[in-house]
Amino acid sequence: MSEAPGASNVRHQQVHESRHPLVRHKLSFLRRSDTGARRFQELVWELTTLLAYEALADLVVTQTSVTTPLAKTDGYVLAERVALVPILRAGLGMVDSIWNLIPDAQVGHIGLYRDEATLRPVEYYSKLPPASQMDVCLLLDPMLATGGSTTAACNILKRHGIFRIKYLGLIAAPEGIAQLQGAHPDVEIYVAAVDCCLNDQGYIVPGLGDAGDRLFGTKVDEAARIPNSPQTEEP
Ligand code: URA
Repeated sequence: MSEAPGASNVRHQQVHESRHPLVRHKLSFLRRSDTGARRFQELVWELTTLLAYEALADLVVTQTSVTTPLAKTDGYVLAERVALVPILRAGLGMVDSIWNLIPDAQVGHIGLYRDEATLRPVEYYSKLPPASQMDVCLLLDPMLATGGSTTAACNILKRHGIFRIKYLGLIAAPEGIAQLQGAHPDVEIYVAAVDCCLNDQGYIVPGLGDAGDRLFGTKVDEAARIPNSPQTEEP
C-alpha cells in the first residue's frame, strides 16, 4: 500500500519509525539478500545519516554572528555535545557516517556477548567518554531484536552516569521495542522500520539477516537466508 511521502512519524510513544521516502527506498536495497558487503556498508552509512538527521532534530543551538563576503548575519553553533556509542560489532558500521556529520563527537564502545547457559548478554568491554563531556548519547546497533543487548547497553551507560540516551537502529522487532521500553522508557527509539516479529533463532523477520555478517562479509547464516527471488536492479 502506498503512503503519502512525509517526514518521520511517531508510530508508538518514543518509537520513531522513519517514513522518509529515501529511508524506505534504501532500506529495501539493504534488505535484499543479493546486496553485497560493500554496497551494504554504503547503505548503512546513508541510512544512518538520514536517521541521525531525524534523531538529532532537537539538538540545541546557540546564536552567533557570521560574516559572509557580503554582510554580517546570524549563525548558529551546536550547543550540545554528542557522543556515539556503538554496540560491537554491528554498531561499528553506523559510527563513521554520524562522525562525518559531527566531527567533534566522542566515540565510546560497548562489547557484549550472549552467555549460552543463561542466554543473557554479558559485558566483555566498555570504554566510554566521561558523562560530564556529553549532553546526548546516541546508542548505535542496527538491529533491535530481543532487546537484550540494547537494554544491557543502556544499563551500562546509566551506570556510567549517562542518562540522555537515544537508540538509533535500522530495524526493530516489536519484542525488542517492548523489552527496551519496559526497562528504559526514557530512551527514545529511532529506526528505519519496525518489522513483524522474531523467528525461533532470534532473527528479525523479514529483517535483513545478520547485520554484522553482512557488514563485514563474514559467514552467511543459512537460517537467516531467504530463497532468492527475482528482484529489480537498483537504479
Ligand atoms: N541481529 C541481527 O544481526 N539480525 C537479526 O535479525 C537479529 C539480530
